[in-house]
Amino acid sequence: MNTRELLKDKKTIVVKVGSSSLIHPETGNLNLIKLEKLIRELCDLRNQGKDVVLVSSGAIGVGRVALGLNERPNTISLKQACAAVGQAKLMMTYQKLFAEYNQNTAQILMTKNTMVNNLSRINAKNTFDELLSMGVIPVVNENDTVSTYEMQFGDNDTLSAIVASLIKADVLILLSDINGLYTDDPNTNKHAKFIDCVETIDQKLLDMAKGSSGSDVGTGGMATKLQAARIATESGTDMIIANGEDMGVIHRIIEGENVGTLFKQNKNEDFYLIDFIEENL
Ligand code: GLU
Repeated sequence: MNTRELLKDKKTIVVKVGSSSLIHPETGNLNLIKLEKLIRELCDLRNQGKDVVLVSSGAIGVGRVALGLNERPNTISLKQACAAVGQAKLMMTYQKLFAEYNQNTAQILMTKNTMVNNLSRINAKNTFDELLSMGVIPVVNENDTVSTYEMQFGDNDTLSAIVASLIKADVLILLSDINGLYTDDPNTNKHAKFIDCVETIDQKLLDMAKGSSGSDVGTGGMATKLQAARIATESGTDMIIANGEDMGVIHRIIEGENVGTLFKQNKNEDFYLIDFIEENL
């Protein structure tokens, strides 16, 4: 059986959506059609008996629009204020959409401290386990309202990999505005080739990850995605980067279709998540 086929039997799935997949770039408002489809996909995974976690960005972007700010906020306090407004609005929308399918959801906001403090980390893990055992779909974000530079992960690609590692997820799906990993930037190099499967993350691959996704609303470029891939694969989680333009890609991935770039899990018994966070983030 090929590796893609194996994805069918995976039980615990973390899906990360970036702001660029949730927000209309022209207006900064939520793309309700995409959100609706995302929620339907996640509820259907639940209906198949899978455990599902959603890591969603968008707090700062949604808050910025609600407050009528035209520019991206550039001071910490303004970002935090936007996040405080936006996270609540975002959750309200998620609650409403999940409720249409009678699906319980929950909000989990984390900072780096949640992970490096032993007690907080154990508490967070227990909460995830308890929620998943009751069939709830937790919606996770960085706690942007209180997380200043010293204690933030900074981007949700990394956060979603940390969550996947914490709860020992089987699969992490990163939905972005790109199809996956290329040998070079496909926007500037027409010879750039698509990579559909990565067995090991080596220096050559890290060197390819230059530049960013070029989006105005998210924070994660290819470098953060490769960092996420390291955390996930070394923790024993398969990771897929795929284009969130059509949210239907979620069920296609879990049905074993060859879409996006798959980073095969490569569990490293010496990988210690907390050391990685303290040394790299
Ligand atoms: N936590 C940020 C937000 O919700 C997003 C970070 C990211 O997109 O990587 O606005």
